[in-house]
Amino acid sequence: MEYPMISFNGGRPEADGTYSEQTKAGMIGVIIHEVGHNFFPMIVNSDERQWTWMDEGLNTFCQYLAEKEWDYNFPSRRGEPQYIVDYMKSDKSVLSPIMTSSDNVISLGPNAYAKPATALNILRETVMGRELFDYAFKEYARRWAFKSPEPADFFRTLEDASGVDLDWFWKGWFYGVEPVDQDLVEVDWFQVDSGNPEVTKAAARAEAQRRAGTISKQRDAATKAETVVAKDSTMKDFYNSYDPYAVTDADKKKYQDYLATLSPDERKTLETNAGTNFYTLSLKNKGGIPMPVIVRMQFEDGTDSVARFPAEIWRFNDVSIKKVIATPKKVTQWTLDPFQEIADIDTENNSFPRVAAPTRFQLFKQQQRFGPQGPNPMQQQRRANQPPATQGSGKN
Ligand SMILES: [Zn+2]
Repeated sequence: MEYPMISFNGGRPEADGTYSEQTKAGMIGVIIHEVGHNFFPMIVNSDERQWTWMDEGLNTFCQYLAEKEWDYNFPSRRGEPQYIVDYMKSDKSVLSPIMTSSDNVISLGPNAYAKPATALNILRETVMGRELFDYAFKEYARRWAFKSPEPADFFRTLEDASGVDLDWFWKGWFYGVEPVDQDLVEVDWFQVDSGNPEVTKAAARAEAQRRAGTISKQRDAATKAETVVAKDSTMKDFYNSYDPYAVTDADKKKYQDYLATLSPDERKTLETNAGTNFYTLSLKNKGGIPMPVIVRMQFEDGTDSVARFPAEIWRFNDVSIKKVIATPKKVTQWTLDPFQEIADIDTENNSFPRVAAPTRFQLFKQQQRFGPQGPNPMQQQRRANQPPATQGSGKN
């Protein structure tokens, strides 16, 4: 924990005056961070010996927000959910909950700085929304300025200032070591059976044609001319020309009789949902932390839409749930967490149907002349702009 009165060590340019983007971001980031400590823990005076996350975590979160105010493209090292994935993925024996006394924390950087900063960012963007979160977070700073809050004071203030029950969130992110891993196991597709024979018989015909394409049928078709009924027409009867999928007057009457049994409300429900697609999504919480479910639907017509369900979707079963989504358009692809906002540690099980992600490999190549980092882009640019060294002309 470096505090503002201590000089910053870092952010030095190279001898030629150039500096890498990392050096630049590190310099700006550390200044923002150390100035931030004026607030946490200097004004909101938590006990950093006991709970490192209460100053470093909160301050790293504020640093992330301030960096975005500096430049929304700022390459922040901590705060984006995807950057905590490697840590959350690690073996549980080397993980400790955020709520661990500082002396016992393993990996203080990811545990006390990055994970709480990321959790708060997720709380702000995905669970509560910016407006509500910002109000509650500021309320914590207002209430506890020049006092000594404990973790429970932070948890309680964020809940009662916002009116949102966040017990599940603190339990998952602050008291546990489990990661987030949502699995979209499968999607089942349902459509309303209208009972209209024009629709049902056409569908039955299409299905029968699909089933008829067996290898034997394809090969037998080549010998059709040799069959008994082909050679001798007296062997044919009614069923040789009968079309079971043709709509008959009897079918139409049956349909009208069915409609007559429906109440006006039932009829309306049937009409409204005639073309609706009902999808049942089977979801598994493989990681452990129950999180909001965000799912993108890509439709047959090329458009898409995103549905969001709060974490309460898991309240009766935090392992396995089903969710029905009704849409007039047919969905061709489903994707969980399309904006990388919940720190899901395995995204291969986020799509249905599954989409294979390529793993790229390179040819073995001899190592570059410049060691692991090489010249920074500023140096490269400067070298490229220098005129070539002039040859001696023979005259002095
Ligand atoms: Zn710090």
